[in-house]
Amino acid sequence: MKMHCEKEEEVIRARAEGLLADNGEPASEGGAALREHVAACPICQEALFLAELFERDQRALGAQAPLPEADLVWWKAQLRARREAVRRAEAPVVFAEKAAWVTGALSAAGLAAWQWPAIRGWLALIASAPILGPHSEPLAALFVAGLVSTLVLAGVSLYLIWSEK
Ligand SMILES: [Zn+2]
Repeated sequence: MKMHCEKEEEVIRARAEGLLADNGEPASEGGAALREHVAACPICQEALFLAELFERDQRALGAQAPLPEADLVWWKAQLRARREAVRRAEAPVVFAEKAAWVTGALSAAGLAAWQWPAIRGWLALIASAPILGPHSEPLAALFVAGLVSTLVLAGVSLYLIWSEK
């Protein structure tokens, strides 16, 4: 199938100059001949169709963004630069936050390991509470673990609520 027509460019140009407009006015001589050609040439029909689509697109874009091209490009660059700057400025804060979380978790783990005998004694103390039966150390550990995770969750929630403001 033929993909190109030697009259294609001429047809597009004629369309842009309004020579193909079928508005009842007698077309110019060249226009009439071209129109006849277009009626018989699918390649030129498609080219005209695409030209129309393109023009409609351009008009729609123009309506949405009335900024001239140069201003638009400049504005976009500014926006991108500002976003970059914010991201760069935030990076140390984000890093410090993460480091604080990791340090806190490591400290808690270290403290637990260091004070393990004391914690064991404490667990034993809880386990020996009258409401719990004998040999209920695992139960006590579970209770303490639940208490700790509740406190941690509460802390995280408070932090999230506070940081959103
Ligand atoms: Zn053609």
